[in-house]
Amino acid sequence: MNIRRVLAALALMAVAVVAAPAQQPAKFTHADSLRGGNGPGRSWWDATFYDLHVAIAPADSSIRAWNGITYRVLSASQVMQVDLQPPLVVDSIRQNGRNVTWKRDGNALFLTLTEPQRVGDTKTVAVYYHGKPISAKRPPWDGGYIWQRDSLGNPWVATANEGLGASAWWPNKDYFGDEPDSQRVAITVPDSMVNVSNGRMRSRTRNGDGTTTYEWFVAEPINNYNIAVNAGTYEHFFNVYQGEAGTLSLDFWPLKIHVDTARKQWAQVTPMMKCFEKWFGPYPWYRDGYKLVEAPHLGMEHQSAVAYGNRFQNGYLGRDLSRTGRGLTWDFIIVHESAHEWWGNSLTARDASYMWIHESFANYAENLYVECQTGDKQAGAEYVIGTRSLVRNDRPVEGIAGVNDEGSGNDHYYKGGNLLHLVRQLVGDDEKWRKILRGLQSTFRHQTISGAQVEEYVTRESGVNLAKVWDQYLRTTMIPEFEYKVENGQLAYRWTNVIAGFDMPVVVTMPELGRVTLHPTTEWKTDGGALRGLEGFAVDVNYYVTPKPVSPGTR
Ligand SMILES: [Zn+2]
Repeated sequence: MNIRRVLAALALMAVAVVAAPAQQPAKFTHADSLRGGNGPGRSWWDATFYDLHVAIAPADSSIRAWNGITYRVLSASQVMQVDLQPPLVVDSIRQNGRNVTWKRDGNALFLTLTEPQRVGDTKTVAVYYHGKPISAKRPPWDGGYIWQRDSLGNPWVATANEGLGASAWWPNKDYFGDEPDSQRVAITVPDSMVNVSNGRMRSRTRNGDGTTTYEWFVAEPINNYNIAVNAGTYEHFFNVYQGEAGTLSLDFWPLKIHVDTARKQWAQVTPMMKCFEKWFGPYPWYRDGYKLVEAPHLGMEHQSAVAYGNRFQNGYLGRDLSRTGRGLTWDFIIVHESAHEWWGNSLTARDASYMWIHESFANYAENLYVECQTGDKQAGAEYVIGTRSLVRNDRPVEGIAGVNDEGSGNDHYYKGGNLLHLVRQLVGDDEKWRKILRGLQSTFRHQTISGAQVEEYVTRESGVNLAKVWDQYLRTTMIPEFEYKVENGQLAYRWTNVIAGFDMPVVVTMPELGRVTLHPTTEWKTDGGALRGLEGFAVDVNYYVTPKPVSPGTR
């Protein structure tokens, strides 16, 4: 997604006249620090491989499972934090055939390892557990396990746990900054069900006890929240895509009852792939392939197995988030969730506070997709500008580091997308802008990164001084106001509602001169040219600022 809170935003559209209340500063707890920080139980080990085995019993909504955690020792320590949320119950924890003792601190387990942990060693610890994992109350926003039935009454089970955390159903380092290099996902389900997880299917084994094990293998680094169960009465069809990095397999897993509808609607994957490869570079997971899997929730960017629940219709559940009509000619979930394969999955925020890297670029990708689909740059711009009405400015887009804080869970979509559209204007060269987007992808491919790395890269490669722009739009809730007036037959203008030193250029239309680039500061300037009246004067709408005419006497 995560399109978390989009429903809330849609609700807001209906009552747009009611101003959003300013959000109280968040209070952070010991549990937030354990979850969101790279604390002493985490920083000394680097997860290299998760070997996850989960047997699912839809009859009583329970699981029985184990995960082998392989890691490299970065610095010597004997106390290891592994996250696994209640009500799941640990049966035992083992290292090299010996029991490991542990104690629970909320959602975290602290293991006391008896074997020496020497720097450079590669070790494995296995956690065996069972129970009834948290059920999603309102998936995918309020996540967990989804125990559903399809319209024929067949059991249908899925997971969605981006915000809640992967530790809601399997033990791991539940932290953005550490991804394993690869992962096995072996899911056992009743014989009547098919399970589709991430990566490629390696084997399907009938266990002879009424269950079948589907072994999937992810050959490339993966964020923990992307690991997913999708178990149901699935049908499979496939295609291939000749892309920038060779032949990419496209595998489609709709419910059996929806296969004909899916063949039609999901044909949108190919033009989407073409557009995103052009703008962002090669799809990041050729080894693991691309899959679209029908899910009993709206959708989620599960890596190489994108979850789809948009009811086989265009728009966002049939609606246009931009309210311009530009959002009704393509399937929002295919486009938005697949964009996350580049932004969120290949480039992953190292800390939850940089979640805008995932959502701002995914929102912005929707704009680029409209541009690709229509061949009209203006149409794409209309779309992203249309989503400005959903911006709340309730909190800064960027969150607070180390405490599992994502910043404004609403504005990291629409305000972030409009910030990127603004930066494109400032770069002022579409081919250069495309190279910057592709360069971000190739430079930080398969890495966890900070927001500052993205900011610095774009600033350096564009040659435009963007430092104040990032500060203004990511770290404050203020939208710059462009104040202007006619004074002595001249245009007078300045920035207000901005941080100190804000001096972003802006393009305006002057009645006689046409398009002019101005360089406002927080002081009045009158070098823009002669102006008799304000009729015919306009600020370029692609600049995300508030034009504000003021009376001639204003100081
Ligand atoms: Zn998203």
